[in-house]
Amino acid sequence: MKRFENRTVIVTGAASGIGRASAIRFAQEGARVVLVDREQSALQAVLNELSGSGHEIAALDVRDEPNVTALVDRVAADHGAIHVLCNNAGIAGGDYAPVTDNDLDTWRDVVDVNLFGTMHFTRAVSRHMRDAGAGAIVNTASVAGVRSGAGGNAYSASKAAVINLTQTSACDLGQYNVRVNAVCPGLVKTGMTKPVFDYAEANDKTHKLGTRCELRRYGRPEELAAAITFLASDDASFITGQALPVDGGNTAS
Ligand code: NAD
Repeated sequence: MKRFENRTVIVTGAASGIGRASAIRFAQEGARVVLVDREQSALQAVLNELSGSGHEIAALDVRDEPNVTALVDRVAADHGAIHVLCNNAGIAGGDYAPVTDNDLDTWRDVVDVNLFGTMHFTRAVSRHMRDAGAGAIVNTASVAGVRSGAGGNAYSASKAAVINLTQTSACDLGQYNVRVNAVCPGLVKTGMTKPVFDYAEANDKTHKLGTRCELRRYGRPEELAAAITFLASDDASFITGQALPVDGGNTAS
């Protein structure tokens, strides 16, 4: 039996990296996947990779609350229910300056996408899950939200807020049988981290990547997809309000 047979799953940031790998895995496990991203042509390419049927793409910006709510309400009406939401869209911002010199526009962008984007989808989807009496939400946070030094200040603060939102919304929604969890990835090779890998490769420092991790390597998007689908599935039916590090041991060292 496939774990997501007859289930509707929304994945944001599905055009690349961890979101793409998660959409592929959900589809392999029987889900109808709604792939959300602001990159329409890349979304279409991922849609073409999915197994199964009933999938669709929605090109929108997670910051655009009216469009997010309209999409969610339309999907709930068309599909009868939304069983899983993966809030995965995110940006790094690229500002690694100390707090004395941080760029405020970057702060606003990063918080808008990473925190408000997550909030917009959580708010809209959880109303339907509450009314249905079931659902699972998985947020993609980061090890940067757990400890300092793994991202810029805005990125780290936004991901710490996503972890807190995971806990508070789990408390709000537990009484309706709606679970909310997060994954905290360590360094994973994706579009977001391409500059890190390009720099390491150009400077013969690839061997240094992931050396903080117990496993001495960086992660693969598929390894995050495995954790995300676990938390979204009935295999995690008694797990809520948790932020699971998927980081090769990064936060253990
Ligand atoms: P990625 O850049 O490959 O994918 C992110 C996707 O989000 C892209 O397709 C992008 O178009 C989309 N997106 C960005 N802003 C958006 C917006 N405003 N509206 C709609 N879509 C938007 O990066 P990734 O590494 O796969 O990132 C996925 C998540 O994982 C992010 O939340 C990121 O913060 C988190 N994360 C990544 C790493 C890592 O090392 N790659 C580590 C920790 C956490």
